[in-house]
Amino acid sequence: MREAQLYKPAKGGYVDCFLCSFRCHIADGKFGVCGVRENVGGMLYTLVYGKLIAAHLDPVEKKPLFHFQPGSHSYSIATVGCNFRCLHCQNSEISQMPKDQKRIIGEETSPEEVVGEAEKSGASSISYTYTEPTIFFEFAKDISDLARRKNLKNIFVTNGYMTKECLDELKDVLDAANVDIKGFTEPFYRKICGARLAPVLESIEYMRSLGVWVELTTLVIPGQNDSEEELRAIAKWIAKTDRTMPWHLSAFHPAYKLANLPVTPAETIERAREIGLEEGLRYVYTGNVPGMKGESTFCWNCKKMLIERHGFTVKKNVVEDSKCPHCKTVIDGVDL
Ligand code: SF4
Repeated sequence: MREAQLYKPAKGGYVDCFLCSFRCHIADGKFGVCGVRENVGGMLYTLVYGKLIAAHLDPVEKKPLFHFQPGSHSYSIATVGCNFRCLHCQNSEISQMPKDQKRIIGEETSPEEVVGEAEKSGASSISYTYTEPTIFFEFAKDISDLARRKNLKNIFVTNGYMTKECLDELKDVLDAANVDIKGFTEPFYRKICGARLAPVLESIEYMRSLGVWVELTTLVIPGQNDSEEELRAIAKWIAKTDRTMPWHLSAFHPAYKLANLPVTPAETIERAREIGLEEGLRYVYTGNVPGMKGESTFCWNCKKMLIERHGFTVKKNVVEDSKCPHCKTVIDGVDL
């Protein structure tokens, strides 16, 4: 156990955690909503520091980030735990373990060891992913500081529920994030994720204002968030906030407590992409349906194909100095 950051003691032995937007008020001997932060005698402890549950070398496209060092690899790590309880979680065995199984496991690993492994693997970046990185903030921050000194970039793949205070701590080391916009109504967030939408949108805006490269993902779930109205509302919000943010639309596959729902039809994903383009977004992608046109990057001005992909593989990239070679339009992103 290691003392947590971003909390303060409160009256009566309570502590107030302000790492994420739940802002838990935790009694002595109790845990926060995430199940990995515990009040012991009026001090808050993180129970997941250094407890690595997953470490893999992934294409950065798998995060998914399509406009951040395309074709590179990202050393991807996680601890157990999450502050959300999404009914469709693809990684529920590790994300919900502290709550569902009442246990926290992981291989004791130091930040130095993580960065050393990342360097050995040939990765250009480290991704904090698979579960929710916010809840292992202290570990991620120590790794990020070291990674930065070794010229590795840092990527959060996140539900966006961290507070501004958390982002202020990360702003000097966080290079990019893929943030889920899981739906666009408060009832959806409440029922499906056990959380709220508004803080997620605030985090995205704040990340952009800090200069973090942000891409967005919506998993389109049949009958839950796949209406034209809801998808268009998301697209309009992105267009108003920053139309250069790429939007990834992924097909749902039955999982966890939504195992009874069907797979998202490819036509729904394609239609969602059209909606994004109709609303003026520059880059809208399809995911989880390999072989679709929407996996590739097109110049938002002359519409020619610039980065051809199949699944997570970059087959061809003709971008030159972040510009379209045909019409010289700047293509948004980092190290394209
Ligand atoms: S990280 Fe979020 S869910 Fe966990 S204790 Fe802190 S405020 Fe609560």
